[in-house]
Amino acid sequence: MKRILILLGLIGIFGTSPLLAVAADTDSNVVSPQAIELARTLPLVDVHFHFMYNMTPGELKERMDKHNIQWVVGAGAVEGFTGTESFERDLMVKRLLGQRYLPSVGWMSIRRADSDEGNARIYTDPANARRESLLKLLDEQLTAEPQAVFSELHANAESSSTILHLKRRLPTDAPLFVELYKLGVKHQRPLPLHMQWHPDSVERLGKLLASDRKGAVLLSHCGKDTEANQIRAFFQLHPNVYCDLSYRSLPQTLRESQTDPARTIYWGKSMFENAGAKQEWIQLIEDFPDRFMVGVDDVHRWGTYDDVVDSIRTGLLPFLKPETAAKVAYQNAVQLFRLKQ
Ligand SMILES: [Zn+2]
Repeated sequence: MKRILILLGLIGIFGTSPLLAVAADTDSNVVSPQAIELARTLPLVDVHFHFMYNMTPGELKERMDKHNIQWVVGAGAVEGFTGTESFERDLMVKRLLGQRYLPSVGWMSIRRADSDEGNARIYTDPANARRESLLKLLDEQLTAEPQAVFSELHANAESSSTILHLKRRLPTDAPLFVELYKLGVKHQRPLPLHMQWHPDSVERLGKLLASDRKGAVLLSHCGKDTEANQIRAFFQLHPNVYCDLSYRSLPQTLRESQTDPARTIYWGKSMFENAGAKQEWIQLIEDFPDRFMVGVDDVHRWGTYDDVVDSIRTGLLPFLKPETAAKVAYQNAVQLFRLKQ
C-alpha cells in the first residue's frame, strides 16, 4: 500500500516554519493496528546516549525497564561537577547494568589532550607525542573493557553544538581520525561521528571509509543537517557507513530548545515526531534497512527521555515494514556492536 504525505506548515516560535510531514496510508489514512502494536512492543537498543551529570545508574535502569530498552550504547558521559572522569562514570553505570550498558572511551580524554595542545594540533599535526599517548590510553581502555565503544567524535559541529569548543570543522581524514579509525578496525568498533554535511567533510570521510572497508562509521544524527538524498548518495558509495537517528525528532528539539536557545538550530531538520515521519526518510530506511539505528542522545530531564522514546515508537517505527522496524529498533545494533543477549 502506498503512503502519501500530508504536509502541515507550522509557524515556528523562533521565526522558522518547519514542515511537519505526517505519513498516512492512502487506503485507510491510518497505520495498521498491528504495526502500532509491534512498534510499541519491540525491544530497543539506544545507540547514542550521554549519561548526564545529574543522572544515577538506578534512574537509567528504571527508564530502560519501563521502555523495554534492552541495551544502551554510551556516547560520552557528562562529568559536570561530579569530579569523576567521563569513562569512570560510564563504568559506574556498567557496574549496575552489566552487559546492557556499553561504556565509552575518549569523551573527555580527547578533549583534554586537544585543549592542552591547542589549535586542533592533536588532530592535524603530522606527528604529535600527546596524540600518541592518548591513542595508547584509548587502546588500553578498549582492551581492558572489551564491551567499551568510542564516544561521539565531533568532526564538524560548526553550527550544531552547544559546546563552544566543538563548533568547528576539522578535516575528517586528519591523522587523529585516521588513527582512531584504525583502532576501530582493531577492536571491531564503529566510530560515532558527528559531522555536518559540508562537501569537504563528506569528501574526506569518503577517503577514510575507503581506506579500509573493515572499519565502520556510525553517523551521529545521520549527518545532523542532512537531506535524505544526500545520505542516499553516500550510502551507495560506501557500504561501511551507518546512521543513528538520534536528535532528529521534534519533541526533543522543541522541549530542549526552550531551555537552551542554541538548540533551535535543529528546527526544520527533524525526520519524525509523534504524528509521523518524513516520507523521503522512510523510503531511504526501507531502501537501506540494515543501516539505521535509534538513539536518545542527551536529555536534560527524564520527561524528555520519555518523549523521545515515545516519538520513536509512535512516529517512526509504525511507518516501517515489520521486518525493517525490527532491524532499526534493535537488530542492526545487535549486529554492529556484537551485543550479547
Ligand atoms: Zn550526542
